[in-house]
Amino acid sequence: MKSPLTIIALVTAALAILLTGCSSPATSASATASASASPAVYTRPTEITSPVEAETLLKDGNARFVSGSILPKDLSQSRRDELAGGQTPFAVIVTCSDSRVPPELIFDQALGDIFVVRVAGNVIDPVTLGSVEYAAEHLHAPLVVVMGHTECGAVSAAVEGGEAPGDIAAIVRRIEPAVALAKAGGATGADLAAKSVLLNVELQTKAVEHSKILEELVHEGKLGIVGAEYDIRSGEITWL
Ligand SMILES: [Zn+2]
Repeated sequence: MKSPLTIIALVTAALAILLTGCSSPATSASATASASASPAVYTRPTEITSPVEAETLLKDGNARFVSGSILPKDLSQSRRDELAGGQTPFAVIVTCSDSRVPPELIFDQALGDIFVVRVAGNVIDPVTLGSVEYAAEHLHAPLVVVMGHTECGAVSAAVEGGEAPGDIAAIVRRIEPAVALAKAGGATGADLAAKSVLLNVELQTKAVEHSKILEELVHEGKLGIVGAEYDIRSGEITWL
């Protein structure tokens, strides 16, 4: 015959098994509840053909970035597999290489969303323009954004003048016309650098607009081309 202590031990063990068995579904139910309460993963319509709709998506994304409410992104293997079958970026962003101006972050976009062309001073030359033409003509991205930014080092180099070393001169040369225009408008000091950034966006945007391929797409209503300035302090974008 078993002793009372043995019986108590057996009952305790049986209770422990019962409780463990019951706790498992309860745990998974609460995990499901907390997962559904987390922010939704960022998604967008697969096909975007309207320049206006594309601009709205970028404005909404920047508003989320500025307010600190960026959405989680699908960076899974299955998403990479899906995109390996083809990309449909909805916008081309031509902007500066400056590390403080990362387009995917400041527009709160994910894999496959934006086609980015980055070069110091966001200058347009045959190579960068060819990249824009490829994205617009071949990938059918409906919007091109030429975006400068405040406190741009490449623009400041052009404002300061003098001999730029090595191939940096090739970049500075393409910004000098904007600086000359700003000076002709009477800008001096810090105002000269700020005005030069805006005029550089204007001139580089015009260079994009002069592309025969892009001009045709704009004429057909399939493409929009806009200038913008990113403020590296506030995170906000001014559409020009
Ligand atoms: Zn810059």
